[in-house]
Amino acid sequence: MIKMVEYENLAKANSPFFAAYQQKFEKVMQKGWYILGQEVSQFEQAFAEYIGTKYCIGLANGLDALTLALIALDLPPKSEVIIGANAYVACILSVINAGHVPVLIEPRDDGNIDVSKIPAHLSAKTKVIMPLHLYGYPCEMQTIMDLAKKHHLHIIEDCAQAHGAEYLGRKVGTFSTISAFSFYPTKNLGALGDGGAVLTDNPLFADKIRALRNYGSHVKYYNDYLGVNSRLDEIQAAFLNIKLPYLDKINAHKKQLATIYDSALDERFIKPKKAVGLDSVYHIYAIRHPQRDKLKAFLKEKGISTEIHYPVAPYKQKALLGMFNEDYPLSDKFHATTLSLPISYFHTQEDILYVCEMMNQFREGEG
Ligand SMILES: *Cc1c(COP(=O)(O)O)cnc(C)c1O
Repeated sequence: MIKMVEYENLAKANSPFFAAYQQKFEKVMQKGWYILGQEVSQFEQAFAEYIGTKYCIGLANGLDALTLALIALDLPPKSEVIIGANAYVACILSVINAGHVPVLIEPRDDGNIDVSKIPAHLSAKTKVIMPLHLYGYPCEMQTIMDLAKKHHLHIIEDCAQAHGAEYLGRKVGTFSTISAFSFYPTKNLGALGDGGAVLTDNPLFADKIRALRNYGSHVKYYNDYLGVNSRLDEIQAAFLNIKLPYLDKINAHKKQLATIYDSALDERFIKPKKAVGLDSVYHIYAIRHPQRDKLKAFLKEKGISTEIHYPVAPYKQKALLGMFNEDYPLSDKFHATTLSLPISYFHTQEDILYVCEMMNQFREGEG
């Protein structure tokens, strides 16, 4: 019998919150304060407390969070920023949009940046390391922090896929000068539209980003910086205030589904890496297989939808052609073999067992 397993269904994933969202929407609508009100302040405080930083500034999206974090550092133009070669394109765009130069580093086999390859790429212009906790799995933060300290570099963590993930008992987002989050609807903590935030312990950077998101203004109609309009929407903050208390439950659900994949999937599928003290929140559960495309098509026939994060390496994107002169074979291999399996808040254990059963029936072909 064919069972349908969707990759994601945001209406289903959010349905446990619908009643509370509706009440809250009514309240915010009636109140009539739609920009930078009490909901945004409340969320900023609650999220900073949840992750473990002093300050949180709500922004319009995750790309702006990365970009404004870089702008706040006030680096010399064309400073170099270290990024994983297989990172999401937002990382690279943030660097370019802030007037700097992305320097790409090959990934390890878990998809996170290979820290051992960073030293060879450092120059006098290097100012920032931007680790991305890919799929919700924490990077080797101790080594990255040691390196940053030794070479006087800032760290900007991209935590867009890692809300609540922990490295040696501490949440990611607390290991950097400034960390960036996205509340895009598919993220572990997702809104019903766009949203983002930066977190920091530094009062000066916090203050500056608070101004930058609002036309560079601390006081209405007085502009201290060349800012942008990137405010977290009041209504999205209201929804996030409802969802944040359930983030641990959402993460626990995804971790439980990941455990099923870990134990039920055949060994020929390379599963997400696990290490003591590195606590993934499985934003994405990606396996790797040399015949990824064939496997994806096979699963589709069995009623199972999957995704690829991401099909093309950033350095091969049309928009970035000519910007990087090196080849990145490990990154290429990663993009060619990675496959993301269903792991949403609405999926049941039975859904995942069905996916495993079908995966294990897959037969490798001649090519
Ligand atoms: C989602 C995401 C972003 C950007 O978030 P938006 O809110 O869509 O701008 C940045 N980096 C990574 C790794 C992401 O997954």
